[in-house]
Parts: sequence; C-alpha cells; structure tokens
Amino acid sequence: MTDSREKLLQVKNLKKYFNISRKEILKAVDEVSFDIYKGETLGLVGESGCGKSTTGRTILRLYEPTDGEVIFDGEDIAGKLSTKAKKNLSRRMQMIFQDPYASLNPRMMVKDIIAEGIDIHHLAKSPKERIDRVYELLETVGLNREHANRYPHEFSGGQRQRIGIARALAVDPDFIIADEPISALDVSIQAQVVNLLQELQEKQGLTFLFIAHDLSMVKHISDRVGVMYLGNMAELATSDELYEHPLHPYTKSLLSAIPVADPEVERSRERIILEGDVPSPIDPPSGCRFRTRCPFAMDICAKVRPKWHEAEEGHWVACHLHDEEIKANNV
Ligand code: SF4
Repeated sequence: MTDSREKLLQVKNLKKYFNISRKEILKAVDEVSFDIYKGETLGLVGESGCGKSTTGRTILRLYEPTDGEVIFDGEDIAGKLSTKAKKNLSRRMQMIFQDPYASLNPRMMVKDIIAEGIDIHHLAKSPKERIDRVYELLETVGLNREHANRYPHEFSGGQRQRIGIARALAVDPDFIIADEPISALDVSIQAQVVNLLQELQEKQGLTFLFIAHDLSMVKHISDRVGVMYLGNMAELATSDELYEHPLHPYTKSLLSAIPVADPEVERSRERIILEGDVPSPIDPPSGCRFRTRCPFAMDICAKVRPKWHEAEEGHWVACHLHDEEIKANNV
C-alpha cells in the first residue's frame, strides 16, 4: 500500500543505551525499526519513559546512536559524520520541542530567535532579506510582523509554540520531529497548533515524526502510528487500521482508555486495565518486555523476544499471539 511511496527515513535496529553506572546500562531504545515516507506524518506514542523522545533525538543526532542504522534520503547518518555533513543535516532535519517556555531564549528578540538558523546556514544575502523572511515566517504561523521585536515572555504558550514552529521552518527543512509539541498547551490551544502543523504539511510537503504520549492526540494528524513500550516497538499501522483493528495487547489497552462520546458504545466496550507500573529499562523483563503487564502472557513470552514482523500488509507488530511461526509450532 504505502510501499510504492518514497522513503525519506529508514530506522533499522536502532539502539541507544546510556551507561548509568559501571554495572548498569539503561536500554532506552533497543532495536527499533520503522520507515517514514516522504510527505507523511508518523505518530509515535507510548507512556513516558518508553523511549519515543530518545528515538527522535537519536535520529537527529542530538544523541549518538549506540548501534543500528538511520538512513535519511538514501544516506546512512548513524555513523561518523563530517562537520559539513552534520551542518547540512541540521538544516534538513528540524525539531519542535515540547516546552515552548524552555525552548526559546528569553533574552533574544523573536526576530533573532527565528533567524538563528538563517544566520547559521547563511540563507539570507542581506539584512533586508533576513527580516523579510522573518516577517513571512511569522505570518505563516499565524503571528504578525509587529511580533518580531518582542521577547518570548510577552507571548502566550500557544504563541510561543508558533514561534518555535517558525524557527524550525526558517531553514526550509524536509523533515521535522515534533516532540510532544502540544502537551504543555491548554486543550483549547492544542487543536490550533495541530491544525497549523497539518496546514504546513499540506502546503510545504513536509514529513513529520509526531511524538505524543497518548493515542487520541496523534489520531487526526498521523497517516500511520507506531506504539512503543519500554524501548521497543510494539505495533505500527495506518491510523485507521490501528484504531479499528489493534493487534498488540498494549495498543488495545491504550485504546480502551480513550473515552468514546457515544454512551451506548462506551458501556459495551471491552476495557483492558493494565496492572502495575512500567518496569525499569535498566532491568527489563526477559522475552517480551510487556509480559509483566500483559493479560495474555504465555510461557514463551518470558523466554523469547517477539519478532517485529509484518503480520498483515502494512501492519507491523511484535507479539507471539500474531506470529504464524509460533502459532504453527503450537508453542
Ligand atoms: Fe503479551 Fe506475550 Fe504478546 Fe508480549 S508476546 S504482548 S506477553 S502475548
């Protein structure tokens, strides 16, 4: 289905481990694989600490990958990169941060915050071209040119996130990682920012990785959605497929926690309530990392890590319940 489209990003068996002490290693991202097609939005969801933000930051090389491949537009960018290649990459890949309060320098005027990337990459030939570009970006994100000479504290949370978006757009990127870009905003503002991102994507053909902690947030903006649990991918499918036919017990539990407006449907829905907390990624459970909370766990789940495989066309999952080989062997 989506396979005929061109892949902008391929993440293959990506690992990011952090040494906590001489003996302890935190396996924040452990063999994560997925592709992102040109012009699509891939949503990445999971509880806090599941590794979704670390995955985003490792793709952007804000963290050095421990192992695995990250292929961006045909080039492996996970290995050693020259300063020139890193700079080029920092123009083509941008990030929108979760906290619009913390991500803007309070001592800089908005025009200089937005123009930072323009200056670094020498994208304006004159001061006039620079400020005209800033005005254009402010208008693109729903602000106006009078805002250019103000400081971040003079804006509301939603406006600050718009400034963050303008800053990301300033270098004309191909790919944007939006790391929980609406979580810190009032609910009334969240939809405005999501709509803005959607509009920008349609107009400018951008490709997005949209990271969020709950499924309801990513549903409308994402073409496909990936679900992470404790450093692993649990499931990935188109948004409609994932919401209508989830395969992984963890995805089912996340979906069953989203309230449905229709009281009839709400009453008859199957609820999967998870027991216990997310285990520590320093000492994750053997086999399937979800097994300590999974209501369907079997013996094999403690022994064998489930394979990340395409169970149905375009629908990826890591769960023994959907592994034909395991089922055929009646394990
Ligand atoms: Fe549950 Fe086993 Fe599937 Fe893991 S592999 S989600 S423990 S059934």
